[in-house]
Formats: sequence, structure tokens, C-alpha cells
Amino acid sequence: MLLVIIVLSPSIENLIKIFAKFPTIGPKTAARFVFYLLDSPALISDELIKSIQNLKTNTKVCPLCFRVFEPLATLGAGPSNEKNICEICANPSRDKSLVCVVEKEIDLEAIEKTATYKGLYFILGGVLPILKKETVEQTLTTNVEKLRDRVKITHEVKEIILAINPTLEGQNTILWLKRKLEGCNIKISCLAQGIPLGGEIEYADEQTIESAIQNRR
Ligand SMILES: [Zn+2]
Repeated sequence: MLLVIIVLSPSIENLIKIFAKFPTIGPKTAARFVFYLLDSPALISDELIKSIQNLKTNTKVCPLCFRVFEPLATLGAGPSNEKNICEICANPSRDKSLVCVVEKEIDLEAIEKTATYKGLYFILGGVLPILKKETVEQTLTTNVEKLRDRVKITHEVKEIILAINPTLEGQNTILWLKRKLEGCNIKISCLAQGIPLGGEIEYADEQTIESAIQNRR
């Protein structure tokens, strides 16, 4: 059998390697992206470059909930809000007594889509692995300390809802969080079993998320 070895130009190969690092994108899909860009008008590549630059320069991480947001000034709507916090944390009509802890931003957006939860959020930034957990635990501990400080300093939070995915690592994280939040003297609740075991909030439908929040315990 004749073995055909295709040597790609370094520029092509380099970009394939970059795209292949994206979640769920393997080398074949990465190569399709690169050849699509090669075949497309320069305008498409220019737009992509500009969008990536804007993503990094125009966005900030909210110091209260860790959500990525775009300060109003960059949207051309006047000066940025003075505290530089996201629009959810800055919204006076949100219930400041409720804080919903999620693993990642996409879970927050899934809950926001239901439009029924009116409290605030806290993005934990990951879950605690069952094994090899030292480095992750350090990062998560630093993050949880910020949540504890927020509860203790503001005295506004009355309940923390742990909206963590019901996977094995998620359950492990819930137990760990409960221990870390001991002594805060506030109610700690978890989502009701609407999200199937092993399932993920990001893929659940809006009604399931809504009922899981309403029936939390
Ligand atoms: Zn925020």
C-alpha cells in the first residue's frame, strides 16, 4: 500500500494545532476550520481576528460573581458603572438574599434563561475531582473564601443554593462546599432531583431547571 504523507505548511499546521485545543474540536475539525479560512475572503479572517481581540480587551470578570461581562462604556452606552460589577450584580431589583453557586458560566446562563430565578450568582470555577485534587482544591478554596467574605461582610445573603451538576465530582463538590460554608449561619440548599444523576445543567431544558430551583432543599 502506498503511504501518502502530506506535509502542511507551518502556518496551516500551527493554526490547526491551535483550533484542536478548543473543547470538543479534534484535529480533523480543526483542519476544516483552517481550510475554510483559506478559501474564504480576507474579510472573514479580519473579523475573526478583531472579535478575538475585542473578547480579550472589552470584557472584564465581575469581582463579585466571577461572571465575564462587558462594561457599559465599551458598548458605547456612557461611562462604565462605577463599581465595575456585572449587570446582574448591579441590578437593584435582584434578590440579594439569594446566591446561586454554579460550576461554570454556561450554567449561570442556562439558569438565567429560565427568567424565574431573581437572586444573584457565584461562579465557582470548577468542581473538585475525586483523585489528584490538590491544585484544583487550592483554586476552589481561594474562590470559596471570596464567597464566605461576601456573606460575612454584606450580611445580605440569607441562602446559598448549590446548583452544581449531579455528577460524581459534582456530589463530591457539594459535600466539600457544605463543609467550607459551615459557620456562615445561613441556609444552604441544593437543587431538587430534576436534573438527572450524571446530567448537566447546561443541557437541561428550562422547565427542568426552573422546577429544580423551585423545589430545592
Ligand atoms: Zn457579577
